Amino acid sequence: MSYDVVVIGSGPGGYVCAIKAAQLGLKVAVVEKRATYGGTCLNIGCIPSKALLYASEMLAEAEHSFGQLGVVVGKPKADLVTMMAHKDATVASNVNGVAFLFKKNKIDGIRGTGRILGPGKVAVTADDGKVTEVEGKAIVIATGSDVAGIPGVKVDIDEKVIVSSTGALEFAKVPGSLVVVGGGVIGLELGSVWARLGSKVTVVEYLDTILGGMDGEVAKQAQRLLAKQGLAFHLGAKVTGVEKAKKGAKVTFESVKGGEAQTIEADAVLIATGRRAYTDKLGLAEAGVAVDERGRVKTDSHFRTNVDGIYAIGDAIAGPMLAHKAEDEGVAVAEILAGQAGHVNYDVIPSVVYTSPEIASVGKTEEELKKAGIEYKVGKFPFTANGRARAMLATDGFVKILADKKTDRVLGAHIVGRSAGELIQEASVLMEFGGSAEDLARTCHPHPTLSEAVKEAALAAFFKSIHI
Ligand SMILES: Cc1cc2nc3c(=O)[nH]c(=O)nc-3n(C[C@H](O)[C@H](O)[C@H](O)COP(=O)(O)OP(=O)(O)OC[C@H]3O[C@@H](n4cnc5c(N)ncnc54)[C@H](O)[C@@H]3O)c2cc1C
Repeated sequence: MSYDVVVIGSGPGGYVCAIKAAQLGLKVAVVEKRATYGGTCLNIGCIPSKALLYASEMLAEAEHSFGQLGVVVGKPKADLVTMMAHKDATVASNVNGVAFLFKKNKIDGIRGTGRILGPGKVAVTADDGKVTEVEGKAIVIATGSDVAGIPGVKVDIDEKVIVSSTGALEFAKVPGSLVVVGGGVIGLELGSVWARLGSKVTVVEYLDTILGGMDGEVAKQAQRLLAKQGLAFHLGAKVTGVEKAKKGAKVTFESVKGGEAQTIEADAVLIATGRRAYTDKLGLAEAGVAVDERGRVKTDSHFRTNVDGIYAIGDAIAGPMLAHKAEDEGVAVAEILAGQAGHVNYDVIPSVVYTSPEIASVGKTEEELKKAGIEYKVGKFPFTANGRARAMLATDGFVKILADKKTDRVLGAHIVGRSAGELIQEASVLMEFGGSAEDLARTCHPHPTLSEAVKEAALAAFFKSIHI
C-alpha cells in the first residue's frame, strides 16, 4: 500500500499527527506494535496513573477531610480490585477512542513492528512473523520512550517485586513498604498512590532536591507537603544496587558526597529514574538516520531527520518527555507535510505533577532566570488567603508569577496547590500571547475561585496583592 504519510507509533505524538494529517487531506497509515493504540500515555502512562491518583486521592479526602466538612461516612477503605477495574476501564475507553478516531478520519492502522528500510519504505512484521511493505512519501518516527534503568547498576525488573512504572500500575496487593528510586514526576505520583493506599514509601533520589529542574522553592514546598503525607526521602543518595531479597527486595545506596553505604529492604521497589528514547529494531542505523549521544533521533526545527522524507517527534527526539509536547509536535509536522507552517513554542510547555496538591509550572524558574542574568520580579500569593481554598480545605501551597523587571512580561508561573494543573493554563495562554503581569492582574477573575490566587500573584508581581 502507498500513503502520503506513514507514522510509526500511535502514542500521543503519532496518533495526533495522523489525525491532523488526515484532516488536512493526506492519506495516512499508522504502524503500531502494541495490541491497542495510544502508546505509553494511554496504555501504561498518563491515563492509568491519573485514574489511580484520582481514586486514591478520593480515599485520602474521605479519610482526612470529610469529617471536618461534616460529611459522615463509615471508615473508608480501599477496594483495590475495583480501583484497578476503574483504571482498566479508563484505559479501554481512551484507547478505543483512538481506534474510533482513526476510522472516522479514514486512517489505516497497521498492527506490527515497523522497520525503516530507507526513504519512503517501512517493513512491518506482524505478530505471526509475516512481513509486509508499506510505502509513504513521508515517514514520521513516533516510537516514544521506554524505562531507562539506573545508569551503571544492573537491575532485574520483574514487574512484580522490582517494578517499573508499568508494574507499579498493576500491583495485585498493596505492598507494605515500597522504595521508589527516583524523586521525579513518575516516582512521586506513583509513590503517592501507594502511600495513600497504605504503603510505607521511601524515595531515594540522587539530586539534593526532588523534582529536579522545577523551581527550587516549589520543589521544597512539595517535599514538605509529601513528607506530611508520610513519604520519607533520602536525597543526595546514589543507588548502587537493587536486588531481590528473601522477602521483597533491597536497595543499597550511599551519599553522593561519599560515606557509608545504607540498605533498605522493602516489599517492592519502583525504578523511576527516567525514560530513554525508544528506537529499538527500527532500522535507524541501516537507513542512515542520525541519533544523538542519548539515542534520541536528531531533528532540525522542522522535525526533519538527516534523511530526506523521514521526520521524528515526541519522546523519541530531544525535549521534555511529555504527552502534550508530543501532540503539539504531531500537529506541527502534519501541517508541515501538508505545506503549512507548523511550529511548536518550546518556551511555553506546561508541566504538571499530579500529586496532592498538584504542582504545575510553565516557563522559566527563578534559578533559570538568575543563570541567564535576567532581572525579574516575583509575585506570590498563598492559598491560605484564598476564600474558595478555605471553603474546600485546600489551603496548602501558593502561586508564584515571575515577570521581567523592566517590561513586566510574564516569564514563568509556578503553582503548588489544588487544581494547579488546570490553573497553570491561564498563565500559559497569557505567555503564548506575550502578556504581562499587569494584563493578568487586570483580567476579571470569577469569585470565589482558586484562579483568584493566580490573579493576586500577578497583582503582587505588578504592584501589590489586595487580599494579603
Ligand atoms: C507512568 C507514566 C506517567 C506519565 N504521565 C504523564 C502525564 O501525566 N502527562 C504527560 O504529559 N506525560 C506523562 N507521561 C509521559 C508520556 O506518556 C509520554 O511523554 C508520551 O507518551 C510520549 O508520546 P509519544 O507519542 O512520543 O510516544 P509513546 O506514547 O511512547 O508511543 C510510542 C508508540 O510507538 C510504538 N512503537 C515503538 N516502536 C515501534 C515500532 N518499531 N513499530 C511500531 N510501533 C512502535 C509503541 O508501542 C508505542 O505505542 C507519563 C509516562 C509514564 C510512564
